[in-house]
Amino acid sequence: MKIKTWVDKDTCIGCGTCIAVAPEIYEFDSDGKAKAKVEVIEDSNLIQKARDAEVACPTHSIKIEDVND
Ligand code: SF4
Repeated sequence: MKIKTWVDKDTCIGCGTCIAVAPEIYEFDSDGKAKAKVEVIEDSNLIQKARDAEVACPTHSIKIEDVND
């Protein structure tokens, strides 16, 4: 099981919630919005963290897609 994650910059408001929830995955970009520093994730604990960030994001800007091998 692998996922791909990214941030929709059009809707991100730079609140930092995803970075607080999953600092291993998300960080602030130079524009003050979030970005994914790792895009493809295989570790199940990190996948759960990305899903937690997806749920926590107030603007639904965390995007997650399953990756098939
Ligand atoms: Fe942007 Fe959502 Fe992360 Fe807040 S939680 S910084 S709105 S992606």
